[in-house]
Amino acid sequence: MYETSFNSRSVLYNLEPIGLGTGLVESLSSYLIRVAYEHNILVGDLFNKMIFPQMNKNYLVRSSTYGGNRFYEGSKTINGFMENAIELSRIMEGLTSRDDLYNLTLYKLKDFIPLRNLLNDSLVWCPDCISIWEKNEKVIYYPLIWHLKPVRICKEHNRFLIDRCPVCNRTIDILRREMIPGCCPNCSSTLSNDINQRLNLVEMDWEIFVYENLEDLIKINPNKIDTQRFKYSFLIKLNLINEEYFENNVASFSRYLNTPKSTLRYWLNGQNFPCLDNILRICFKLNKKILDFLLESQELNGNIFQINDKQVINNKKKHTRKPLNYDVIKKKLIELSTTETPISMNYAAKIIGRDRRVLYRNFPELCKGISKRYNDYVKEMSERRIMRLEEQIMQAFNELTNEGIYPSRRKIEKRLGMNGVLREKVLQDYWKVLLRQSGFEEKKRRKYNIDESK
Ligand SMILES: [Zn+2]
Ligand SMILES: [Zn+2]
Repeated sequence: MYETSFNSRSVLYNLEPIGLGTGLVESLSSYLIRVAYEHNILVGDLFNKMIFPQMNKNYLVRSSTYGGNRFYEGSKTINGFMENAIELSRIMEGLTSRDDLYNLTLYKLKDFIPLRNLLNDSLVWCPDCISIWEKNEKVIYYPLIWHLKPVRICKEHNRFLIDRCPVCNRTIDILRREMIPGCCPNCSSTLSNDINQRLNLVEMDWEIFVYENLEDLIKINPNKIDTQRFKYSFLIKLNLINEEYFENNVASFSRYLNTPKSTLRYWLNGQNFPCLDNILRICFKLNKKILDFLLESQELNGNIFQINDKQVINNKKKHTRKPLNYDVIKKKLIELSTTETPISMNYAAKIIGRDRRVLYRNFPELCKGISKRYNDYVKEMSERRIMRLEEQIMQAFNELTNEGIYPSRRKIEKRLGMNGVLREKVLQDYWKVLLRQSGFEEKKRRKYNIDESK
């Protein structure tokens, strides 16, 4: 059916990834296996002849030509968000003339979720899904969500995923030189073989919570939701809960979360950030979906001691309004003006339990101080963000120029995988400076034969 001859100059078919924009979007490693399969070549050939030469990492070529395994051994991170995932999706985009392959990685979550304990070391799959695709002659692939360590079920089939081939009882590497979608590379049997692992009711709540929350995260459209703020927002909320529900008693909050006190303290002051599994456990315990938790306004609506907490800590004490205690509030305000992560006056007022205007009236200097500190912090964070983006823009700009491509807005945005990023005035100005510095005047533009509409 397909042309079998293959040389390094040929370009790959524009193969569409499965499930784009859904929670079952294909993983990059699966896409690579399928591309090789559709071209009737080995995964190893795809890498040796087309991908490695572009990776500009000679040791990889050497390692794979001489039978080394370095690249394949590290392959689980292909679906993550580190340099190799970004580089590989970019190279494959070039080879297949697509611009959406970064969606097959966790690229958009890179500012939020730490890499540790994030990805499975070997393939994990649902035999029922594969069996049904086989029967209906659908494309067999491995969704990105199967690669996430906390995900243990297939929601569709209400069962556990499996990580060992039931025939040879071995685990399956994420990527190998020889691999066929839906087949065990060790014994060549189909991965639709079933070992019965249905869910029991006790585990179900938690497993489904995990699945649905990660589905939400995978589906995020980074052009609509600013994931760079997630980490900060998580931190703020955690602190807010500590204040509101535990009156800053880290010991009782840590008992509630079933987390060591010292660990929780690191999370609260931002020295450390919980891994994906812990983020999920916290949200489960708080009975909040991750996205709601992150995107909700500063209000903490609902009672966190409901549903998911079986050992219910007694109902939250009713807050009775005490008379304005000048000294206590002053002490608290002084404390809040030196928090590890600066906080806003809105937030400070919430913690103290007094109207912001009342506080401003009675303690103008302290309040202004807190507010200024917070504004400076927000400004610094946003400046840092701009600097980071400028760096990326410059890199893309230089790469394009070196390749003889005019570094238009669209081309740069496409290379960065960030649609519309250059619409932001500061960044657009920066791009114009780069253009000017590189002497892209009208004549040069013509030389590059620019067509901005492309
Ligand atoms: Zn399934
Ligand atoms: Zn097997």
